[in-house]
Amino acid sequence: MGKSNIGYLLLLPRFEYSAPRTLEEACALLSQNKGNAKVLAGGTDLLVSMKKRNESPSHLISIRAIPELDYIRYDHENGLKIGARATLQSIASSPVVKNTFEVLATACRKVGTPQVRNMGTLVGNICQAGPSQDTIPALLVLGARLKLVSSPGERVVPIDEFFEGPFQSVAKDDELLTEIQVPPPPTQSAGSWQWVPKGTEVDETLVGVAVLIVAHSSGEICDDIKIGLTSVAPTPMRARRAEEVLRGNKIEEKLVEQAAQVAAEETIPRSRADYRRRMTSVLVKRAVNEAWQNVK
Ligand SMILES: Cc1cc2nc3c(=O)[nH]c(=O)nc-3n(C[C@H](O)[C@H](O)[C@H](O)COP(=O)(O)OP(=O)(O)OC[C@H]3O[C@@H](n4cnc5c(N)ncnc54)[C@H](O)[C@@H]3O)c2cc1C
Repeated sequence: MGKSNIGYLLLLPRFEYSAPRTLEEACALLSQNKGNAKVLAGGTDLLVSMKKRNESPSHLISIRAIPELDYIRYDHENGLKIGARATLQSIASSPVVKNTFEVLATACRKVGTPQVRNMGTLVGNICQAGPSQDTIPALLVLGARLKLVSSPGERVVPIDEFFEGPFQSVAKDDELLTEIQVPPPPTQSAGSWQWVPKGTEVDETLVGVAVLIVAHSSGEICDDIKIGLTSVAPTPMRARRAEEVLRGNKIEEKLVEQAAQVAAEETIPRSRADYRRRMTSVLVKRAVNEAWQNVK
């Protein structure tokens, strides 16, 4: 590649920039510039994408000056609430997330480099809606819900229903994702997050798996289980047929093997399909066994 091409990649296209101080103002700006504006959080996906000319919004609306979006709160009744400005690093090192939602803390800690985690937000990771976003399996198994706000009103969407295709979600052009809501974890539950180690911190994850398992009070039976996968389909996904294999049953080696195989069959990898399927099976087995050990 010639020097001029490298320079081209590093230059941002021209855009208008706004830094509103309230959510109301941000929503009004999004509505006025519908279709031409994008929300700017940490910029670790958006600015790279603009430099590569994958997208060229004419207006960026930064949410970094809106204090009301910067929070991580927890109470036993309502669960965890994470505002749109909370960075991956602040979530990974939050005591309440580490103690109560460890699977999410682990996933946030695994994203990119320290610089990326200090700038990038969890909400940005969700809104990017790529097939290999690292935090989504954890949010899928924890049953997260997403609050979308626009000038006309607001709605809450379960994360299972958010992704429509690669880099496509149900969020409309004038909607801002303001909050992630995670219910308190069920009693007698434990999670695990497993991934294929990356060659470098900036490589894409080849396979990522999160599991949340709930044990019956007897401690012998799996009352409920959720399995979330990333990088193995056009969008992050639940392995629902594999969950069915284990739900309501005693966790035994043969059954875990069967569930892991079913999970691999549910995937729709876009490349390196054999390897990704094999690793899905390995990681699901590992995650189920680890979560089961932790819950007992
Ligand atoms: C070197 C490097 C390494 C990386 N490594 C990883 C990795 O290991 N794993 C991984 O998953 N990702 C990785 N990423 C991607 C990126 O860092 C994450 O996806 C990050 O969480 C994005 O958050 P952000 O705040 O920077 O989002 P931004 O770049 O600001 O925004 C991303 C998208 O979300 C939209 N958006 C942001 N906030 C909102 C909102 N509140 N409402 C509506 N839309 C919104 C933006 O308009 C944009 O379309 C990496 C990126 C880089 C540059």
